[in-house]
Amino acid sequence: MGIVIAIDGPAGSGKSTTAREVARQLNYTYIDTGAMYRAVTLAVIRANVSVEDHLAVTDIAAQADIRFAWIDDNLHTLLDGEDVSSSIRSVEVAQLVSPVSAIGSVRDILVKRQREMANTANIVMEGRDIGTNVFPQADFKFYLEANLETRARRRIADYQKIGQNLTIPEIMAEIEKRDKIDSSRQHSPLKKAADAIIIDTSNLKFEEQVERIIQTISLANLSQDKNGSEPNRNQ
Ligand code: C5P
Repeated sequence: MGIVIAIDGPAGSGKSTTAREVARQLNYTYIDTGAMYRAVTLAVIRANVSVEDHLAVTDIAAQADIRFAWIDDNLHTLLDGEDVSSSIRSVEVAQLVSPVSAIGSVRDILVKRQREMANTANIVMEGRDIGTNVFPQADFKFYLEANLETRARRRIADYQKIGQNLTIPEIMAEIEKRDKIDSSRQHSPLKKAADAIIIDTSNLKFEEQVERIIQTISLANLSQDKNGSEPNRNQ
């Protein structure tokens, strides 16, 4: 198994941009697990299936062929061969993704695929339960957080890019609702791993967020070289 860097946190905490840049600098594979849950949710909407119908939703998750591809320096998400990168960012998907992700059998399917991704590569994986559930033994665990308004402000441009003009209060309501469902669900709720390094990004520039993570990893590697033994890199 390769080296695993887990980055968790709520929507808008800066996970995606940071994880992607950390992966680029280290030459690791970047995996956005939120995109996987979003792709399943899009498939559920398209199939006109109710999220209450857990069997049907699970069946859709099992059938969904979700892949990632780099196109023009952007990570694209493919669902059954179709590029769904924009559609999965819509407010309709955002409003339904948390109930879909709360279904234990859906998580079992996607977590299995996520674990397989570390078999052959060093990875930076971002999500909600990477350090707590997908890779409890991850080499490095980070938990990013920020205040609600900052998080909503970061999301506004993402919605504009796909032609959806939401106001800050609307986005605040959307992500607050998701946070609530994600943190209170029975299966792998969003929470800080006890051994995660917590970074509040509210007042940090993007470069500073990346730098903190890269520095932590470099320092751990340095102490490993000096001691000649494997350190507990999350301490
Ligand atoms: O990261 P992003 O905001 O795209 O995630 C969308 C949703 O997917 C989250 O609100 C959460 O419901 C779900 N998710 C999850 N576990 C993960 C990643 C995302 O439940 N590891």
